[in-house]
Amino acid sequence: MSFLNIDSVKDRTFDAIVIGSGISGGWAAKELTGKGLRTLVLERGRDVKHITDYPTTMMQPWEFQHLGQLTKEMREANPIASRCYAFREDATHFFIKDNEHPYVQEKPFDWIRGYQVGGKSLMWARGTQRWSDFDFEGPARDGFAIDWPIRYADIAPWYSYVEKFAGISGNKDGLPQLPDGEFLPPHEQSCVEKHFTDEMAKHYKGTRPIIIGRCAHLTKPQPIHYQQGRAQCQNRSLCQRGCPYGGYFSSNSSTLPWAAKTGKMTLRPDSVVHSIIFDEKKNGLTSGRATGVRVIDAHTKEMTEYYARIIFVNAACLNSNLILLNSKSNRFPNGLGNDNGLLGKYVAFHNFRTTISAEHDGFQDTTTEGIRPNSSYIPRFRNVFKQETDFLRGYAAGFGSSRMTTIDTSAMGEGLKSSLMQPKYGNWRVSSHMMGETIPKESNYVTLDSSLTDAWGIPQLKISVAYDDNDEKMIRDFHEQMSEMLTVAGFKNIQTHDVPDKAPGLDIHEMGGIRMGKDPKTSMLNKWNQLHACKNVFVTDGACMTSTSTQNPSLTFMAITARAADHAVKEMRKGLL
Ligand SMILES: Cc1cc2nc3c(=O)[nH]c(=O)nc-3n(C[C@H](O)[C@H](O)[C@H](O)COP(=O)(O)OP(=O)(O)OC[C@H]3O[C@@H](n4cnc5c(N)ncnc54)[C@H](O)[C@@H]3O)c2cc1C
Ligand code: SF4
Repeated sequence: MSFLNIDSVKDRTFDAIVIGSGISGGWAAKELTGKGLRTLVLERGRDVKHITDYPTTMMQPWEFQHLGQLTKEMREANPIASRCYAFREDATHFFIKDNEHPYVQEKPFDWIRGYQVGGKSLMWARGTQRWSDFDFEGPARDGFAIDWPIRYADIAPWYSYVEKFAGISGNKDGLPQLPDGEFLPPHEQSCVEKHFTDEMAKHYKGTRPIIIGRCAHLTKPQPIHYQQGRAQCQNRSLCQRGCPYGGYFSSNSSTLPWAAKTGKMTLRPDSVVHSIIFDEKKNGLTSGRATGVRVIDAHTKEMTEYYARIIFVNAACLNSNLILLNSKSNRFPNGLGNDNGLLGKYVAFHNFRTTISAEHDGFQDTTTEGIRPNSSYIPRFRNVFKQETDFLRGYAAGFGSSRMTTIDTSAMGEGLKSSLMQPKYGNWRVSSHMMGETIPKESNYVTLDSSLTDAWGIPQLKISVAYDDNDEKMIRDFHEQMSEMLTVAGFKNIQTHDVPDKAPGLDIHEMGGIRMGKDPKTSMLNKWNQLHACKNVFVTDGACMTSTSTQNPSLTFMAITARAADHAVKEMRKGLL
């Protein structure tokens, strides 16, 4: 027999619950607490405190047991995680280990995750471009997926809002496909990147601009950043270790401590959300609301329920899908809000499969000094103003450069030292990686495995996501166009690199499955990110995205989250939630 402990229920009742403490969950926590809501933030991973929990951040290369490299054992034990470029000896502690969090790959998919307070905000590469109406109007114009329920004008003020707080560096380039933001001073392009920019401007008459990347680094901190306890980025480029200066934006350095300062946040690490509780009838009346969440303690595996008036789902795209799919009730036997059977479908991502590299034998009298945690960026130029190829949409690309050096490794003692201090410089080398928009399709989906569960008894996610013909055509076009552009600019030794059997996932930009839309028959969420069928549940991470654009998505997740939180609180105050 069990007794209802009233006090305990009271203790477990909040105004709002946020599931996940990563980039989007951090913003939900900041906004909801900032507006006075007692907010419970549930995070499945361990606590990671800003600065004190960055164990490698001040280590020198020679202090690492394996000089920063992965051992064969580490690679073999983590075949998926180790495919991510950032999974190196200095940062493996922020990545989940493959065997601890299994999932089913109906089709090969590299699912890279960071389960801890701060989520992937500690690990990300910080590229932060706004999306434009070429993105929000994309599906309607080009006839795929469904129309977005919002346009750039709906989100532009929220971009400004989050940019000012997070601190985004960039140049005002005046490009319609890449709207300017509230920028801190930009990083500089290298001489070779500038050369490429100038040659492209001449040859393509302004239709293929190359710019310095926009990124979440404090190049010139403002009072709001000092108030967060953050300081100027020191250009160390060791960001994946966690930054003791708070030089880049992470939940740990920015939104979570800000939310904590309000005294309204309860952060509960090691709390694995199992599902959302849906209440069909409350006091005999039809409630039609979610009342709380079921949480499994990561260590004791004990289940506890927490309650709130509104719930923000920010577990990152695929895990948010998993939680909703696992939230079954009489009313929603196929997952919360899933009246139309679309939950988990139309998952899309960014095509990061291919790169191109080249050399330039000019600029021999220059080299780079110091490190820059950024690179140049090639905004989308294909199919922007009109459809011009046999594939839909387009790609952006990163564009970085460095001077090749050789060290005399046969030398010893003084010889080796002086070879290290004065390496022989070779040509400039550039490389560019494609970031292609993929088309959300019903055939790219996630679902729950019917028999396999994880260590917490939660069904494993089954992922069935693959490239399609559009992606293949886009890769070929990237090779052709970039080869032409590099040739025009005098680059030599141009080499394309593609591994056709490389699985999707390493973009780490999963989106969709709980998409926004105008019509409850064809979408899961309305324009405020509320489930059509359960209005007090908001999904504001990548799962809500109707299409994927070519730009990195996290800035848009932040803006969408802040916008939805504002709406939620307004609705609550009107008594509508
Ligand atoms: C190496 C790398 C480079 C990247 N570079 C960029 C970039 O340059 N630009 C860009 O825009 N994006 C980049 N990304 C992607 C970016 O990190 C993500 O888009 C972003 O973190 C997503 O935010 P989120 O809040 O949805 O998820 P996350 O930041 O992953 O946070 C989700 C949180 O939810 C928690 N969680 C999951 N399931 C549960 C559960 N059941 N119960 C409780 N908690 C749960 C997780 O532990 C995690 O802490 C990069 C990612 C990586 C790894
Ligand atoms: S580059 Fe800037 S943000 Fe990155 S670790 Fe160094 S100081 Fe921190």
